[in-house]
Amino acid sequence: MDVLAHGLWGGVAFYPHGAKRFAAGLALGMAPDLLSFGLFHVSHPGWLSLRLAGQISGPPPLSILPEFVFHAYNLTHSLVVWAALFALIWALRKRPPWVFLAWSLHIVCDIPTHNSAYFPTPYLWPFPTPLVEGILWATPWFMITNYSALLAAYLGVALLARKLNLGRTEGGFSG
Ligand SMILES: [Zn+2]
Repeated sequence: MDVLAHGLWGGVAFYPHGAKRFAAGLALGMAPDLLSFGLFHVSHPGWLSLRLAGQISGPPPLSILPEFVFHAYNLTHSLVVWAALFALIWALRKRPPWVFLAWSLHIVCDIPTHNSAYFPTPYLWPFPTPLVEGILWATPWFMITNYSALLAAYLGVALLARKLNLGRTEGGFSG
């Protein structure tokens, strides 16, 4: 899935809980890609500017990616690593870091939207992982369906939040 859609899905459940929680969900939803591919883009501004100028398209070919991107991708796209971090933060803060679920949602969404030709999701890394031959997220029908689903999800969440707030106000008046 593209990084923006990952962020939007990561933030959707936190949208009614204020700008700070929403921003955290958005950032954590994008984090697995920002901390792997994002680092490549930051360290290769020439490639990024050519891509932004439309002179090259698509993801960077495997041959030009430095070794660290592959290591970072394994670390950031593993549910095993995620679960260990989630448990650690839970233990340190004495309460579950719910917003961190946005990160695991990213990994779960990547499993069926990548294939073995380009970064299949290493969701069980460092353990042997049965790789999934998914559909490519850049397929036009998938992009349209995904962003339509996002729009519906945000409308649904916004309506629900409004209804709950109204209920609270009415409850306040009647009480
Ligand atoms: Zn990803």
